[in-house]
Amino acid sequence: MLTREELYRKAFALKAQMRTEKTKRYELLLKTAYEREPRLSELENQQIAVGAELVVKALSDPAEMRKLRQQADALAAEKKVLLEKNGVTEILYDCSACRDTGYINGKICDCVKRIAAELAIAEMNEEMPLKSSRFEDFDLKYYPDKTDRDGVNPKRRMTAIFTMCREYADRFDPHTSPNLLFLGQAGLGKTHLTLAIVSELIEKGYLPVYGPAENLFGRIEREKFAGENRGAYDLMVNADLLVIDDLGAEMATSFTRSALYNLVNTRILSRKPTVINTNLTMREIEERYTARISSRLIGNYQAYKFIGEDVRQKKAIEAKGKTVS
Ligand SMILES: [Zn+2]
Repeated sequence: MLTREELYRKAFALKAQMRTEKTKRYELLLKTAYEREPRLSELENQQIAVGAELVVKALSDPAEMRKLRQQADALAAEKKVLLEKNGVTEILYDCSACRDTGYINGKICDCVKRIAAELAIAEMNEEMPLKSSRFEDFDLKYYPDKTDRDGVNPKRRMTAIFTMCREYADRFDPHTSPNLLFLGQAGLGKTHLTLAIVSELIEKGYLPVYGPAENLFGRIEREKFAGENRGAYDLMVNADLLVIDDLGAEMATSFTRSALYNLVNTRILSRKPTVINTNLTMREIEERYTARISSRLIGNYQAYKFIGEDVRQKKAIEAKGKTVS
């Protein structure tokens, strides 16, 4: 597992490689053009001569200078036409903002952050279904539009949660966005909506980390026993957003309890947002992970209860061509 520094080093290396390839290609085209068009060397010599004369006349002869400027422009224009004829155009950088150097005014460019995020995500979860879990694919039609026994309308509730998630992604700030706790049975869209948030953040160049609780804790445990460099744990602690999916599905051990507490608590202290999805109730969370953790969640997380009927089941039935009652 790569640390944040290693990810950035890798991202910069990739940028440098892209830049080198483009520059090499450009230089090769340029060399070929000069071989094919002797006029290009002539033009260049004339440009140098005109340039030198411009320096001399700059102070003494304004009229002559205007003439020389026009000459210089004409030479440049002729050169440009000849170069283009030979396929030499300006280098098209992948990122025009930093011209693929990776830096803008000494600051790391967003394109590098984006590559680093993609590398981290790719490594954290190889089979994260990001593509099929976007806001556009979230269908509210699966939630019943009728008030249930508790006086709640699932469609209205889920529409509000959906809107909140969109705004969360839109206005995301890695230092001020709140922690979210999504409660509710399986199949109600918790994973879908959190993955939709994650996709949007990746597009914006943030570094979110997503994983089912079982995988995340598993990685921490393996690192600990292998005595490795704690890369996965560091990434989870430092990610712009950490999503712990399906909390409660993992085997509950004293190790997972303390791993969860450390992750939740460290991120609260460093004011980094976390999203937790769980099929457990608050009461079950307390029983399973102790009051130390549940009180952290109650005090520092905004809780949302997902309601409705199992969407996955409904989709499966639809796919089989059967009617839904
Ligand atoms: Zn850039």
